[in-house]
Amino acid sequence: MTATIIDGKAFAARVREQVAEHVTRLKTDHDLKPGLAVVLVGEDPASQVYVRSKGKMTVEVGMNSVEHKLDADTSEADLLSLIDQLNNDPEIHGILVQLPLPKHLDEDLVINSVAPEKDVDGFHISNVGLLGTGQKSMVPCTPLGCLMMLRDHHGSLSGMDAVVIGRSNIVGKPMAQLLLGDSCTVTIAHSRTKDLADVVRRADIVVAAVGRPEMVPGDWIKPGATVIDVGINRIERDGKNKLVGDADFDSCAAVAGAITPVPGGVGPMTIACLLANTVTACCRANGLAEPEGLTA
Ligand code: NAD
Repeated sequence: MTATIIDGKAFAARVREQVAEHVTRLKTDHDLKPGLAVVLVGEDPASQVYVRSKGKMTVEVGMNSVEHKLDADTSEADLLSLIDQLNNDPEIHGILVQLPLPKHLDEDLVINSVAPEKDVDGFHISNVGLLGTGQKSMVPCTPLGCLMMLRDHHGSLSGMDAVVIGRSNIVGKPMAQLLLGDSCTVTIAHSRTKDLADVVRRADIVVAAVGRPEMVPGDWIKPGATVIDVGINRIERDGKNKLVGDADFDSCAAVAGAITPVPGGVGPMTIACLLANTVTACCRANGLAEPEGLTA
C-alpha cells in the first residue's frame, strides 16, 4: 500500500482563504475587523521568525496585526500590564504571548493573565477545562489543525481507535480531548508507555507528537491507518541539514492509508488555525455566528 499524502500546505491555504472570506463579510456586514496582538519578549531567533510570519499572514487575510516586542529583561509586572491593556482593547480579539518566555517570567501566570475569550493559543486554564468538559472553548492551534485534517480525510472519526504519542499540554493532551470529542477510542502514550509498538499497532489514527526524529517505524503501523506527524526535528543527513518528523516517513507511507509529511503537513496548519481562532474570537465577542468548519 502507498499512503495518500495529506498536503498540509494546500489545506492551510484553503483555511486561510475561508478566514479571509469571513473577514471580508465581517467588514461589509458589521464594520468589524478582527485584530491579533502578538507579544514577543526577548530575541530568540526562532520566535522572531514565527512572530514575523504570523504577522504577515494575519495581514494577508485582512485582519489587524499588532506586534509588541519587549526587551528580554522586561519585568513580569510590565508584561502583565501590557496584557491587561490588550485584554481591555476592543480592537484586539486575539492575544498570543510567544513562548518560551525568558526564565525570570512565570509562564503559567502570564498565560493565565490573558482573557480566556482572547486566548487564541487555547492555553488558559479556563480553555483547558472547557475543552476537557466538552464545552465551547479556544482550542490550541496545532491539535485543531490535526483534527481538521483528520475530519477532512475521514469524514466521521466516530468509533476509530486513536493513539496519541506524547502528553504535552500544547499538543498531546488537547489532541486526545479533541479525538475523544469526535468519539474516537483514545489512548495517550508517552515516555513511560510499555511496548509502544504494540499500542501503536492497534490504532486507526496515530498522532505522533514527541520530538524524536523518525522514532515510529512502518512496522508499528496498522495497514491503512492514518499517521499525523506533529514532530519537527532537525537532523544532519548526508552532510545536509534536514527537517524530519517523528514518523519514519518512507516505511510508514508504505503501510499507512494516509500520512502527513514533514515539512508541509501539520506545520502550516498551526498558523492557519491561529487565524481561524482569531476570527472565531471576534465573532464570539460580537455575538455573531462563528465561521463553519474553523472550530472544533
Ligand atoms: P514535549 O517535549 O512537550 O512533549 C513530548 C512528549 O513526548 C512528552 O509527553 C513525552 O512523554 C513524550 N515522549 C518522549 N519520549 C518518548 C518516547 N520515547 N516514547 C513515547 N513518548 C515519548 O513536546 P511538544 O511540545 O508536545 O512537541 C512535540 C513535537 O511536536 C516536537 O517535535 C515539536 O517541535 C513539535 N511541534 C510541532 C508543532 C507544529 O506546528 N507542527 C507545534 C508544536 C510542537
